[in-house]
Amino acid sequence: MDQLFTEALPIITAIEDAGYEAYFVGGSVRDSLTGRMINDVDIATSATPEEVKAIFPKTVDVGIAHGTILVLHDSGNYEVTTFRTESGYSDFRRPDEVNFVRSLREDLQRRDFTMNAIAMDRNGKLIDPFYGKEAIQKKEIVTVGNPDERFTEDGLRMMRALRFVSQLRFELNPDTYASLKRHVRLMEHISVERILGEFEKLLLGMNRKKSMELVIDSALYYYLPGFKTYKSQLAQVKAYDIEQLNAKEELWGILLVLLDIENIESFLRNWKMPMKNIRFILSVVRLVKQEPYFLQDKLLLFKEGEKTAISAASVRAVLENTDVQDAIRTVNEAYKDLKIKSMSELALTGHDLLAFASDRKPGPWVKEAMDSTLQAVLMGKVKNDKAAIKEWLSTCNLM
Ligand code: ATP
Ligand code: MG
Repeated sequence: MDQLFTEALPIITAIEDAGYEAYFVGGSVRDSLTGRMINDVDIATSATPEEVKAIFPKTVDVGIAHGTILVLHDSGNYEVTTFRTESGYSDFRRPDEVNFVRSLREDLQRRDFTMNAIAMDRNGKLIDPFYGKEAIQKKEIVTVGNPDERFTEDGLRMMRALRFVSQLRFELNPDTYASLKRHVRLMEHISVERILGEFEKLLLGMNRKKSMELVIDSALYYYLPGFKTYKSQLAQVKAYDIEQLNAKEELWGILLVLLDIENIESFLRNWKMPMKNIRFILSVVRLVKQEPYFLQDKLLLFKEGEKTAISAASVRAVLENTDVQDAIRTVNEAYKDLKIKSMSELALTGHDLLAFASDRKPGPWVKEAMDSTLQAVLMGKVKNDKAAIKEWLSTCNLM
């Protein structure tokens, strides 16, 4: 059993000692069976949220309406969710009603895919009524029960199916995929926030190219904000080695370049992406498109910083079909070579300038002189030394 499970055993034991059932469920059980690293363990229990709260001294009601309590424990924080069934789905997303139940099987049955519907008890024994382990061995994504019904209940499951193709390198079961294609228009009802979460996981998965092909083939792209009219541009992804990219911002970057999106900010705002991420992607794309190549411009490298430069160089390498690692090394070296990495390292301040030119009043000239000095230091035209800079400024008539 993975160490993360053993660390969480006291939670399971405490719930069982109080007379209820508790199991590991969901992604962690699936990932441990595929040999992947697991990062968080989810626990499902027959105890109601109130009963869970009575067992542990420290809890937080993170999603109590859906049955989820966060248990704060010495070994970590754990989401403990009451067995539940869902009913309603009158709007093709999220259930109208959540019912807490005492049966593990019913809880597993409401889960999306068989590989995600496996429970593991404290001894590592699997409770697997829908043959999820077999599906994992066959590397197959198949819905629990009738796919038409399951996708109609919650359209996001279609997006999840494709993100698992990307993350796990699994294939879609043919019936599941045929049904997905029939129901893809139900994506219309899904909130952008949920789509974004799954789409970014899809982009980051190692089988992202194959998954993007399915996004196109199934017409799911049509329901991704802003992608509707870009089928042929999206198909170009196939021609590039996007698997070399490492960060989601880089993948967004290459998509935006291939789609030739003019107003990137408004495009990404429609995805309800946090402004911080939008800004980073904007900088990356700007550098990717910069001619001549941005690394020739030390001032630009200084201003944008190493992280943005690495992402931009990576995207550019993929677009030019060259090696990403080489491109990153080149950025690392260029950055290391910069004489200074931040304004505070410049051996000149605005105060210095005003002291040097005691007869001049503060004004726009200060900023201009600072900028020129920064550029000169970066280009190696003057040493980053106060006396040297003073001399250089007067010879250039900058003060
Ligand atoms: P990850 O490793 O990315 O967290 P995950 O499978 O754990 O993948 P979560 O979104 O954390 O995904 O969901 C946890 C579990 O809840 C899933 O394994 C699945 O059993 C169930 N689940 C999540 N979303 C849905 C859904 N839309 N419909 C049905 N079951 C779902
Ligand atoms: Mg999870």
